Amino acid sequence: MNKKDYYEVLGVSKTASQDEIKSAFRKLAKKYHPDVSKEPDAAEKFKEAQEAYAVLSDENKRKQYDQFGHAAFSGGAAGGSYGGFSGFDFDDIDFGDIFDGMFGGFSSFGSFGGRRGSARKQKGPDHVIQIDLDFEDAVFGCKKTINLTLNEKCADCNGLGGHGSRTCDKCHGSGTITSQQQTLFGAFMAKTTCDKCGGSGTIFEDTCSTCRGTGRVKKNKDIEVTIPAGVDTGVQLRISGKGEAGVNGGPNGDIYLEFHVRKHPIFEREDNDIYLDMPITITDAVLGGKIEVPTLYGTVKVSVPAGSLSGDKLRLKGKGVADVNNGRKGDMYIVLNVITPKKLSRDQKKLFESLAKTDLDDSKEFDKIKKYL
Ligand SMILES: [Zn+2]
Ligand SMILES: [Zn+2]
Repeated sequence: MNKKDYYEVLGVSKTASQDEIKSAFRKLAKKYHPDVSKEPDAAEKFKEAQEAYAVLSDENKRKQYDQFGHAAFSGGAAGGSYGGFSGFDFDDIDFGDIFDGMFGGFSSFGSFGGRRGSARKQKGPDHVIQIDLDFEDAVFGCKKTINLTLNEKCADCNGLGGHGSRTCDKCHGSGTITSQQQTLFGAFMAKTTCDKCGGSGTIFEDTCSTCRGTGRVKKNKDIEVTIPAGVDTGVQLRISGKGEAGVNGGPNGDIYLEFHVRKHPIFEREDNDIYLDMPITITDAVLGGKIEVPTLYGTVKVSVPAGSLSGDKLRLKGKGVADVNNGRKGDMYIVLNVITPKKLSRDQKKLFESLAKTDLDDSKEFDKIKKYL
């Protein structure tokens, strides 16, 4: 296998200074450290960088490398005095220093926190709850009681997970353990989260029996929510901070209510407007008249103009739904549907018959067709 050029690995020029080499390595180590990196070949890349750095950061080894390339460090190569890996002495490479400096600012990764009590605060998870609402409840708002089972902060240990806290004896309260890691190129110091205290730096005399040390307990509870007027299917409402307890003192999660509004027998909603399919008699359509119309806000009397047709819309301003955000009301549209009577009394039939003898087909609409008859 051909080894990659060490300068290429670090991405520096052949004339790079020690400072440049060091900073290039830091960058790569940060990017590919196996505990941090999500890249699939991170471990490989990290090793490569370590190897290149081990050689190039040492003036003697660098000179050898510049002269003989990789052959300088393989067994029995021309390097002579360096005679392969076994001859390496990396004690003078201060990895500990590099890693200290590097991960000092990494507390958000948790495992590199290093400082006492730095276990990561986490917000509790959010919950989305589907709520079915009656049409009117969505239009006018309502109160609902929702039953939930959530992880809550354990009251017995106040969310700590135990009683009688004392400093962790394994990490002496630092939350991290510094250990020597042996690599091909010698040992370096690596920091890992303390496994005994989980990085918090404290342990407990007794683990809390109520929550078994998790600091959280499942609780079934009812919460009452006020649903504002104007919600509609698909609208989400956030109830902030009422969700699951956070971890390590993090804030509670949120609850999201997602609504599904049931259909109304006669009203149809489109955004904040309401549509009503309204039957009217043939005489109201012809002569005009006053009709009683149901609305969201009670019955109103509406004038139907003479000569109305099926499909004509009458608008009732402000009789729609109040907007959930700004309260502005939509309109209501009465869609007229002229009903042709099918069952007539003898008298009614007579009236229609005498009407039929009159000229009812003299309008433009009839004329247009008559041309083609
Ligand atoms: Zn510890
Ligand atoms: Zn507890």
